[in-house]
Amino acid sequence: MNASALLTELRAAVGEAQVLQGETCAPYELDWRKRWRGQALAVVRPGSTEEVAAIVRACASHGASLVPQGGNTGLVGGGIPDASGQQILLSLQRMNRIRAIDAANLTMTVEAGCVLQTAQQAAEAEGLLFALSLAAEGTCTVGGNLATNAGGTQVLRYGNARELCLGMEVVTATGEVWHGLSGLRKDNTGYDLRDLFVGSEGTLGVITAATLKLHPLPAGQLTALAACADLGAAVALLALARRHAGAGLTGFEAMNAFSMNLVRRHLPALPQPLAASPWTVLLELSSSEGEAHANALLERLLGEALELGLIQDASVAQSLAQARALWQLRESIPLAQGQEGLNIKHDISLPISAIPAFCASTEAALLQLVPGARLVNFGHLGDGNLHFNVQAPEGEDPARFLREQEPAVNAIVYGAVQAHGGSISAEHGIGQLKREELAARKDPVALQLMRHIKKALDPQGLFNPNRML
Ligand code: FAD
Ligand code: ZN
Repeated sequence: MNASALLTELRAAVGEAQVLQGETCAPYELDWRKRWRGQALAVVRPGSTEEVAAIVRACASHGASLVPQGGNTGLVGGGIPDASGQQILLSLQRMNRIRAIDAANLTMTVEAGCVLQTAQQAAEAEGLLFALSLAAEGTCTVGGNLATNAGGTQVLRYGNARELCLGMEVVTATGEVWHGLSGLRKDNTGYDLRDLFVGSEGTLGVITAATLKLHPLPAGQLTALAACADLGAAVALLALARRHAGAGLTGFEAMNAFSMNLVRRHLPALPQPLAASPWTVLLELSSSEGEAHANALLERLLGEALELGLIQDASVAQSLAQARALWQLRESIPLAQGQEGLNIKHDISLPISAIPAFCASTEAALLQLVPGARLVNFGHLGDGNLHFNVQAPEGEDPARFLREQEPAVNAIVYGAVQAHGGSISAEHGIGQLKREELAARKDPVALQLMRHIKKALDPQGLFNPNRML
């Protein structure tokens, strides 16, 4: 590769100031968890779709590979360059415009680098809801959300990023632009290309814009915490909540005692309204009729749950500030566990009915392997998605624990996931973290089809090579 000729072409395409080299690249080269550090030949920051296309053409002609990056909040090491110093990191951050909102069609079209929270706020300003919500929303981008098919806390009601996307604009490996920004709900004109790019983690093309599905804002919303004696009770509470609230159940998160303890330990300023219990559930009910209706629903639900012995105690937020504080408890778990030290992370999904048995037998197997191991088990129970993370025994060096135990811990967890009909990646993707696991555990015919698709769309292997596949 002729690096200096490539850099000259890139500077001509986007301007001198948007081609970064050296020290200024550092934040783009280190992942959020600080687990992987790469080194780019340059970080290039295009301002338009045409500039992205020009960058891809330049890279293709020099045989340089590209790593697309949005907010760099991904958790599987998929958005940072490798260590070769030869890759171009393509940052979409400058492409952050809201292009259009069509209230009658309930859609909005935004550029890929638009921060998720900015997109949410733009929809809300029109009295509408963009229903993707996750703790990284102040930093992650819509392009990254689609590239990872992000989930978050409202999937049980509104679906994941895939279900919230109607159209897409993509720069292909030939440097052409696919103009697919349609806001149609129905379009059966052949293969669904949009769904190929959703969840492709930057390996098939560069998403430059998307048309997203909006919903009416709920008129009323209530949040509550409930204490459960075990996971079986939490699963039964979920079924009861669905019966009472139907589509009004917009959040159902569960946290084990150790995750709440970590928040208590590392974020003591956050009030915890309930006494410690084996499982804490966070419920959110929404109503199109208003707060009084949501309140009545919630009271009936919690009353019956208490009667049935599914919960021991509950606390209902009395204001928006209190509701935010309850969500903050849930969303602070990743931060609290980070302060406790690196742990072995699993983002898994299972049939909800299988979760109590899976957790009981897997926890027992892990404790047999590492006596004293601590399980940070929390997540989107309403979607059957657990963040099932294994922390070193109290006082043990986390780095050593990871080095010595990660393969054996993963073998136990992923083996059990497979045995229970689950998935080794529910919402974070594959990246470099789970590439080998995917190769070992995905259906071999599916893997072969994925490789064929990669070859057909990106024959030169330009986009994010050696990630996912
Ligand atoms: P990046 O990290 O920049 O990139 C992620 C991947 O997408 C990379 O492979 C990259 O190459 C690719 N990519 C990025 N932009 C483009 C583009 N325009 N075109 C093509 N490929 C692209 N995820 C969930 O699903 N649910 C959660 O609840 C959740 N909570 C989180 C909480 C925290 C605190 C953090 C740090 C992360 C969380 N995540 C969660 C991880 C999640 O994947 C990301 O937050 C988000 O979806 C990634 O967006 P990003 O813009 O930061 O992408
Ligand atoms: Zn999550």
